[in-house]
Amino acid sequence: MAASSSKTVLIVGAGMSGLAAAIDLKAAGYHVIILEGRDRIGGRLHTDTSLNGLPLDLGASWIHGIRNNPISELANKYKIKTAVTNYEAMIRYADNGKRISDSRDARIDSNFDQLAAAISKAQNEEVKDRSLGSFISSYTAKRSFTPEQIQDLNYAVNTEIEHEYASDVNDLSLFEFDQDNAYGGSDVVLLGGYSQIVEQLKIGLDIRTSHIVQSITRTSSGVSIATSKGTFDGNFAVITLPLGVLQQGNVVFNPPLPSTKVASISRLKMSVLNKCYLRFPRVFWDSQPDLLGYVNSARGQWCEWLNMYRYTNQPVLIGFNAGTYGEQLEAQSDATIAASAMIVLRKIYGKSIPDPIGVRVTRWKSDVFSRGSYSHIPPNATGSDYDSLASSVGGRLFFAGEATHRKYPSTVHGAWLSGRRAATEILSLG
Ligand SMILES: Cc1cc2nc3c(=O)[nH]c(=O)nc-3n(C[C@H](O)[C@H](O)[C@H](O)COP(=O)(O)OP(=O)(O)OC[C@H]3O[C@@H](n4cnc5c(N)ncnc54)[C@H](O)[C@@H]3O)c2cc1C
Repeated sequence: MAASSSKTVLIVGAGMSGLAAAIDLKAAGYHVIILEGRDRIGGRLHTDTSLNGLPLDLGASWIHGIRNNPISELANKYKIKTAVTNYEAMIRYADNGKRISDSRDARIDSNFDQLAAAISKAQNEEVKDRSLGSFISSYTAKRSFTPEQIQDLNYAVNTEIEHEYASDVNDLSLFEFDQDNAYGGSDVVLLGGYSQIVEQLKIGLDIRTSHIVQSITRTSSGVSIATSKGTFDGNFAVITLPLGVLQQGNVVFNPPLPSTKVASISRLKMSVLNKCYLRFPRVFWDSQPDLLGYVNSARGQWCEWLNMYRYTNQPVLIGFNAGTYGEQLEAQSDATIAASAMIVLRKIYGKSIPDPIGVRVTRWKSDVFSRGSYSHIPPNATGSDYDSLASSVGGRLFFAGEATHRKYPSTVHGAWLSGRRAATEILSLG
């Protein structure tokens, strides 16, 4: 039975972290109000149905590592069906559209494994941080790779590292880019989409959508939050604003946030990973593998495709683009982006394949409520910057969100755990 409390907690943001904090605080008897700027909840979890009613995740798709993952517990609790992604089930194509031979395929993997081992060694042996890209350039310069091998390595680096961290290797810290932890077990997608979880979590919560937070004022007795639809007062606030929103500075903190926190906010970076869903009249690609790889001579462009037919039985593909190229695409129209994707697909599958009958592209960097996809660690920032973002201020402001979770940043589970942590911090005040 929840203890009753006359205390009010204002939560900024109805993403996974805000919902997690709200649930725990409400269960403990606090009066909880969530202030959400968008006209929907979920934040970077957003299942879209505009392509023929098919549920397609525009933000997160996977539960990364199902073993002991709290999001798996939620999926099980709500009886949401999932499907394992088999990353080994992949067909790769060369720049000319021809299928890559088995021997070249094996060489791509072994050359990448050797690079990964060299990165680990450098992380232990080098004394000064630099960009991962700088390390990879010096690594390749010392080896007598053929142009084809360099193209292959660039492809592997793009799909294995740049897509995971949603950033160019030139913008990742050699020492710290992979300081995060991972749960074991398979990665699974949620059939029917991630919003199914959000829709369950919101039940019973007081969520005020279309309330854009403009300023957060902290006094010795509480917190006052001004929104586009009026001011709210509470005893405490949980701030789950994405790193990109904090960096932009449109939400004013009175008094300003401590300089250590401000420094960490500006040191960490927000990455970009964008998805382009293409729905076709029929499947013309290899329908069995989970993934299609394309070793593009244009580095980092349309190199990785997820075969949604595997999960939905519908003729849908997703093209992923990260980092600089992913960001550049945001300035283009949907039709131009789809045309660029079709150049690659026609190289592989021939000129006669049909045009898409539906297109849905994401623009996470341009989105004023996220300003990017998720956080990463650039050169000279460290995992401790995540701790700095997480630290509470003046016993009134508590912080949550993926960029406050040092162990599991950039993930749904990290966001969830961070919200629960912020709730525990408030509960510990008694
Ligand atoms: C394309 C993409 C793919 C991803 N893939 C995966 C994946 O497969 N697996 C995985 O684990 N993770 C993935 N992630 C990361 C994951 O989605 C996020 O880490 C997680 O959802 C973040 O939750 P959060 O609560 O920290 O932030 P958010 O979900 O962003 O919540 C913050 C909330 O604050 C609101 N807000 C912002 N500004 C204001 C304001 N001024 N006033 C009021 N409200 C405001 C936002 O609208 C938002 O609802 C992906 C993300 C993206 C974008």
